[in-house]
Amino acid sequence: MSRARPAGHQARKRFGQNFLHDKGVIERIVRAINPKGEDAVVEIGPGLGALTGELLEAVPHLQVLEIDRDLVPILRTQFFNYPQLRIHQGDALRFDFRSIYDGRPLRVVGNLPYNISTPLIFRLLAQADVIGDMHFMLQKEVVDRLAAEPGSKDWGRLSIMTQYYCKVQPLFGVPPGAFRPQPKVDSAIVRLIPHQVLPHPAKDVKLLATLVRTAFNARRKTLRKGLEQVVTDAQWEAVGLDKRLRPEQLSLADFVKLADLLITDGG
Ligand code: SAM
Repeated sequence: MSRARPAGHQARKRFGQNFLHDKGVIERIVRAINPKGEDAVVEIGPGLGALTGELLEAVPHLQVLEIDRDLVPILRTQFFNYPQLRIHQGDALRFDFRSIYDGRPLRVVGNLPYNISTPLIFRLLAQADVIGDMHFMLQKEVVDRLAAEPGSKDWGRLSIMTQYYCKVQPLFGVPPGAFRPQPKVDSAIVRLIPHQVLPHPAKDVKLLATLVRTAFNARRKTLRKGLEQVVTDAQWEAVGLDKRLRPEQLSLADFVKLADLLITDGG
């Protein structure tokens, strides 16, 4: 299948358009995804179809979601001989992935627009119950944050909330030269697998998310100072965590324990 860039489409910065053109990288990504015939695969941001073409070789019922209206006719023309390809034009940040769930866990893939990757991941985490796995190309720094461990400089809200819902597997790096135009940053592929059973379930995940956000808004402060409006000295005592620590020193399990205590305490 031709991967030539159709004349006339200018890559749009506002949509984070960096198109993959390195065939070796494209094949490696699709091998990592390992799509099988009946899988319900959804690609976010198909662009000019670099990954789409390879995916269609394995899964005829592919669905893609693209925000750029001008790319939709290009995709339709390029893949006219794949009538089962379903092209949704829309914003992945607003898309209801549950609306396309038919009982088969969704396999979400994409070379994501880097400018929206963090809010998009949060959005997908909220729909993790219909997702089997996700494979994303992201800025390498974002992959480092997703996979970070407590105590490291990358450990923060994104690591904690992603690891609450998913197992995170960084796969491999991709250099800027694999894209056109070339991004200014290094990229990497990551696999996220939603837990079937949450390892650290919180009584109220919204409260957990708020607590984590509040704590990391004051990353440099001690927990006692950063959370002084939220957690009393007596509660620090009750939960058995050292309030002189900084937020990056607490594990996911610690944050869940603290959030659960706030609920119990609040009645
Ligand atoms: N998959 C193609 C490739 O690898 O060559 C394109 C990847 S490019 C980095 C990101 C793609 O996501 C672009 O096609 C862009 O138009 C699309 N996009 C950007 N924001 C989006 C959004 N909010 N919802 C859906 N697609 C979006």
